[in-house]
Formats: sequence, C-alpha cells, structure tokens
Amino acid sequence: MLNILSPIGSSVKVSLLAILLAAPAHATLFPHAIARRTLDNGLDVLVVETPAFPQVLSVNTLVLAGSRNEVEAGKTGLAHLFEHILFRHRFEGKAGGYGTAIDAIGAHNNAWTWFDVTYYHPLSFSSNLERLIELEADRFMNLDFTKKTFENESGAVLGEYRNGASFPTLRLSEKMLGLLFKDHPYGHTTIGTREDVVDMPNEFLPAKAFYRDYYRPNNTVLIVTGDVRAEDVFAAAERRFKDWKRGKIPVLAPASGVWKAGRRECIVWDSDVAPYVWVGINMPAFRPGSRDGAVMEILGELLVTPAAPMYKTLRYDKKSVSELKFAEGSGGFKSLDPRSMTLSAKLYKDRYKTDGGEYLSEVEADLVSGLNALKKFSSTEKAAQRLERLKSRFRYDFLGGLSSSAAIASTVSQYYRFGRDLKVFEHVEESLQALRPEDIDAFASRWFTEAGRVVVTLVPPSGEKKK
Ligand SMILES: [Zn+2]
Repeated sequence: MLNILSPIGSSVKVSLLAILLAAPAHATLFPHAIARRTLDNGLDVLVVETPAFPQVLSVNTLVLAGSRNEVEAGKTGLAHLFEHILFRHRFEGKAGGYGTAIDAIGAHNNAWTWFDVTYYHPLSFSSNLERLIELEADRFMNLDFTKKTFENESGAVLGEYRNGASFPTLRLSEKMLGLLFKDHPYGHTTIGTREDVVDMPNEFLPAKAFYRDYYRPNNTVLIVTGDVRAEDVFAAAERRFKDWKRGKIPVLAPASGVWKAGRRECIVWDSDVAPYVWVGINMPAFRPGSRDGAVMEILGELLVTPAAPMYKTLRYDKKSVSELKFAEGSGGFKSLDPRSMTLSAKLYKDRYKTDGGEYLSEVEADLVSGLNALKKFSSTEKAAQRLERLKSRFRYDFLGGLSSSAAIASTVSQYYRFGRDLKVFEHVEESLQALRPEDIDAFASRWFTEAGRVVVTLVPPSGEKKK
C-alpha cells in the first residue's frame, strides 16, 4: 500500500487530556525513554517500553531507502514495488506463507513508502513478540518470491497508479516535482512515472538489485514499542536477525541544491472539477535541532492552520478557497536532501465559471503575499508572544500525537532517521526554545524567493479558453 500524498500517519486522534495530566510540569518533547542496541551487522534495534498501552506490540521496520534511491532512468517505483512484494514472501517456501502466518497470530499489517524511506508496521499482542520478530526477520533477510509474483504485484501497482491518477492531486504532484527537480529522484513521485509502472513487469532483475542493495541491516532500523521489556526485544532481535549480512550501501550524489524553479504550468483536467492552485517552494534539507529545522516544525502553524494570517485571508475574509493545506502532509517536506514545500489551494467551481483565470491569479497572488509576509514576521504586532504560542501549540500537538504505541514508533522513526541520534528530541526542543521572531524573517527571506517558486494550476475543461 502506498499513501501517495501523505506518508505520515496523521489520522491518529489525540487523547490529550490523559497525557497532559500524567505529564510532569516541564515535560520534554518526547517523554519516553528509548533503549538501543546495535547488532554486529549494523542493525539498530530501538525499544520504547509503553506499559500504558497494555498487551499491545508494535514492530516497525524502517528501511532507509525510498524513491530517492531510484536514481536510474526508467526504473522509478521500485521502492514501492518492494513494499508490495515483502507481503508476498514465501515463508517456509509456501506461496502466501508470510501472509498466512501473520493472519494466524491476528496481526494487523501494513506499510508505506515515501521519498527517503520505506516503513513496515505490523501490530499485534505483546505475547507474540518472538513470533512476529521471527516473521519480520525472515522476510527482510530471506525474501523469497517468484517471477510470477513479481509480475502480479507489478499489475497491482499499475491498478494503484490508475486509481491515483483518477484524482487531480497525483497529476499535480507529478507536474510540480517534475518542474522543481529535473536532475534528482525527488523529481518523480513515489509510485513512479506512468511509463515505468507500465514497464515494471520487465524490470525483474533491476528490482532484485534494488532489494539486494538497500535491504541490509546497516541500512535498517527496527523500532519496537509496546507492553514489552527492552531486554526481551534485544534478545529476540539478536536471535532472529544476527545472520543478516551487512552490505555496502550505494552512496548517492547529494542534491545540488540548484533547482529548475520559476516555472509554471496549467493542467486542463478532463472532467468538471474544482480548480487548484499549487505553489511549490524550494526548501532546505531537514536537520532536526537546527535553526532552519525549528522554523520548519512550525511552518504549518505559520501558514496553513486557522491561526495563520494567510489562511484567515483566503478561507474567511475573502472566502476564495475551500481548502488550504500543504500538499504532501505536514511532514512531507522534511527530507534528507533539499526538497520542497507545496501550498495547495482548492478553489470554487462556481466562481471559476464566472471569473476564470483572474480568479486563479488572485489566489496565487494571495498565497505569494502570505509567504512574503513571513519575511517581516518580527515586526508584526506581538510577534514574540505569537511565536511562543506557536511553539507551545507545536509541543501539545507533538505530545498529543504520541497517542498509541504505533504512533510513538512512527514519531521515533521520523526523527531518528536523520542522524541516528537518541538525543534528537532534546535537540529539537532546544532549537525551538532558542527560536526568535527574527529567525522566521531570515528563513522566509532565504527560501521564499521568486526564483525558488513554481506554480501549477489545474482547471476543468471549460476553463481552457479563459486562462
Ligand atoms: Zn502500494
């Protein structure tokens, strides 16, 4: 399964009260201890004991490879394809063996693929610790699949592509990324280009090479959370994963940081849809704990939540858009290499019928001026107090997001992947504490430039002549 536009599980609703009541007066950002053991083969095993969620076990495998690692032309979509194939592992040599064994312990099982990583996250009962680790280890170390399975899953991915392509957002993403990144794998979406997905059944050998190169213990992090003891997890991981062979992980050329920006394109959709205006902005690589990283943590609050001035203007004062959000989920722009943030505004069909292209231009201008306004954030009224409020909202949302064993593991994975640093949450907290209003000005001035901006619009067929 692939979540095309929002990789990070954001559907978990908050049960804040319980957490806040239990928290000490000066709660740290991440109030759980993380235990780590690194096996000789380089596999990092992280454990967060969460007895507050009785009997639950969440076993998560983070592979540090995603569509960013698809560097070869004509071979996009392989990371996501492997996500599928791992579910078809012939455990004990039997067709469907892995799936049957997982069903037998009643585990809920899923995974997702994104630009930088692939994440597998079965959920079960803590009494199944040994068995679940055994099953996971077996599919990561000894993946067994036939050419037939490979072709079938290629077909499933094509179906998934067609389904995604029936909504405007996949086409918008493809155009936007293509315009932003000409010479970097961030220029294609995680599912791959249409041509490559169609051709996928012919890529059996390159696909196997992708698995061989990246599915290695020293490129993987096992994150176990739940009603378990860390020592038991370490012992099981040692038993089951110790024979996994370390590999030489291909080193990717770092992104140049030079983009094909300042371009625009209009997609004419073939049915009557609400128009969209997408504004893409080049962004720095995300480094948790850095000053830029701290600004990126609160960009959502600054731009696309009801507290943000731009949001108020477009949604409430002018009522010119029905939806304003980041196109790729709130964490989508936190990337290993410099990438992009995309503002997505959904417009009203009726007004487009009367005002046509002028309407699109007006929304685009409001989005750009909303971005530019952040360059003078420090000189707005009560800027320091506003910033403190945003920081505190970020902390509450962050804590609230830790509402299950699975959510805790997912949060650890999202931050730990950048530098394998157990103190990463402390660094994020410190960088937030230190953030001043002038830092917002500096960030916006550095990144929200005309040269770094790309605009993609999407309109229904009737709008073609008006634009
Ligand atoms: Zn999928």
